[in-house]
Parts: sequence; C-alpha cells; structure tokens
Amino acid sequence: MAKTKKTFILDIETDKLYSILKPFVKENYRVSQIIQWIYVKKILDFKLFSNISKDIRGNLESSFILRSFTDVIKEESILDGTIKYTFKTYDNKYIYAVCLNTEGKKTVCISTQVGCPISCKFCLSGKAKFMRNLSRGEILEEILYIENDIKERVCGVLFMGMGEPMLNYKNLTSVIKTLISKNEMNIGKRHITVSSMGIIPQIKNLANEMYGVRFALSLHATDDKQRKKIISNNFDTKITDLLNTCRYYLKKTKSRVTIEYILLKDFNDTSSDAHRLARLMKASNIVNPNVQVNLIPYNETNSFDYKSPLQVSILNFKKILKLNGITVNIREPKGLDIGAACGQLGQK
Ligand code: SAH
Repeated sequence: MAKTKKTFILDIETDKLYSILKPFVKENYRVSQIIQWIYVKKILDFKLFSNISKDIRGNLESSFILRSFTDVIKEESILDGTIKYTFKTYDNKYIYAVCLNTEGKKTVCISTQVGCPISCKFCLSGKAKFMRNLSRGEILEEILYIENDIKERVCGVLFMGMGEPMLNYKNLTSVIKTLISKNEMNIGKRHITVSSMGIIPQIKNLANEMYGVRFALSLHATDDKQRKKIISNNFDTKITDLLNTCRYYLKKTKSRVTIEYILLKDFNDTSSDAHRLARLMKASNIVNPNVQVNLIPYNETNSFDYKSPLQVSILNFKKILKLNGITVNIREPKGLDIGAACGQLGQK
C-alpha cells in the first residue's frame, strides 16, 4: 500500500482540532489534553503524551507529524550570546530565526516567508528570490524548536525576520492567536511585535481584530521619493498615510507603535531628515509616549553599496527627535558576527 502523506498538526488551528481529531479521539477533553501536550508542554513525540491511551497515540502517529523541519544549523555569537537558527524546510528551503538575550529574558525574531517579495534595497532577506509563505505550523515550529533547544520559555516574539508578515496575513494572525491564548503558548500580547513595511489595509485589519500586539512600521525615509528609492515595491503608499495608519492603530488598540528608521550614511541621516521626520510625526499627531522611534544604524553587508552612518550623525539625529518631544532609541545590533542582525538574514 502506498504510504500516504501525514498532516503537519501545527498547521491546524487549535479550534479546528476538535473536529479534525474526532475520528481518533471521542471526548473533547482529550483533544484539550493533546493541545496541552503540543503547545504548553511542547512535547516533540506522540509517544510521550502519557495521559492519552496507547491506541490513540498510535493512531495519531500514523496520521500526523509534530515537526516539519528536516535540518537545522545553529550559530552562537561570541559577542552577545545571540543564537541564529537556519532551518531547512520540508521542501529544502532555508529560513532563519534568531534568539536574542535581553536582560536574561529570551526574545525570538522569526521569519514569515521564504525570501521576501518587497526586496528593500538594503536588506539581504529580499535578495534571495521570494519563494513562498511559511505555513502557520512552520512559523510556530521556529519558536517551539528554539524553546526546546534553550530549555526555556521565550518571553517575546518579534515578527521581524525574513519576509513581510502582512503579506502572509492569514497565517500571521493564526499564529498570534496561538501565541496569546492562555491555554496555548500564553505569551503576553505586549511582548509580541509585528513589523511591516506598511500595507495599510492589513495594518487596519490587525488593529480591528484587536489582538493587542505591538506594531512596528519600517518607515526609513522622510520623503516619498526618497522612500521609493530604497523600497521600490512600496505599493505607492504615501508616508503621511502610513503615519496616519499608525495613529489609527494606536487609538484602536491602545497598544504601542514603533517607527523603525534605518540610518544610511548620506542618504537619510541628515539634520533635515530628522527635522522632517519630527514634522511629519507632529502633523499625524503621533508624538506621544506610546510611539517610539527606533533608529537602526545600517548593518553593512557585502551585497549593497550603502554605508553605516557616522556615530556623530546617529547622535545628532537622535538629539533632534528628542528636542521635538519624540521618544527615541538607538537599536544595538545583535549577533553581528554570525550575520544575525537586522537585514543580515538571507543567503550570503
Ligand atoms: N518586512 C518587515 C519585517 C522585517 S523587519 C519589515 O519591513 O518591517 C526587519 C527590520 O530590519 C526592518 O525594519 C528592516 O528595514 C531592517 N533592516 C533591513 N536591512 C537592514 C540592514 N542592513 N541594517 C539594519 N537594519 C536593516
């Protein structure tokens, strides 16, 4: 008899598991126990589901798999303990996730797509050809794998790895539901951040659906023409509309918003850029303590001509924003020696 393909159980939304597992498990409370084994205890093997009968375990094992990655490469930074994971998917593609150490707590930065269709001119993730969206299960597996590896629960999740999360919206939100559910992964919604280059209808959907997670906008420019040069696939979205959407997100969710601004030497790191950014934020009425600008000094890669900004430009940019009442932070690069920092996740 031909071997039939097994279903990846993490791909199934947990509320659908009750009906899908009906042929295997009669009682609903048993399905809840299975959900616990998968998402709370994070067990990798059906055989270890000890309160489930041997017969049921056997049946589950013949129809489902709990993990899909076929290989993993792990690299650890000697600079700051950041760990980069390269996962090989069932169809032989490579994706990346990073485990960051922040004051003893672990935050993971995960990918949502294989490659990225946006292809920002400074980011390695977009250099590789875009191949496909990651499934719900694959995105969750990145986190579950890391938790098993470090033998610790992660405290926060950043959707800031490879890919544009808003272009994989259905799987993104399905993952968020599992992350914030008290009966599943139980990660605080305030510790989850979705980063996007700005797809307005989806940002509004994310606000309207009220998950309460944080939102980060990859803005990177203060003028539409300048932005188009570095993010050419920007759906012709205007900066003002993006900032107004941030205000919508804040009002609707009462959560926080980060404006990410990559500093590229002599391109967008001047005093006039800083003043323009402050003016734009004021005009959109988003200068308040719930909005923070994260300045990201460009991490150089061999693949692009942009240069990192001078230290003096970074501090000057920060000072101007601060004088305008804006909360501002300079993002420290993590895992630079292993190519794990922002924009370094991609094929070299
Ligand atoms: N596509 C989403 C998620 C990726 S987030 C988004 O654009 O927000 C990755 C963050 O790293 C973005 O803010 C991105 O602009 C930034 N980044 C990309 N390349 C970088 C580089 N070489 N140096 C510093 N930051 C970079």
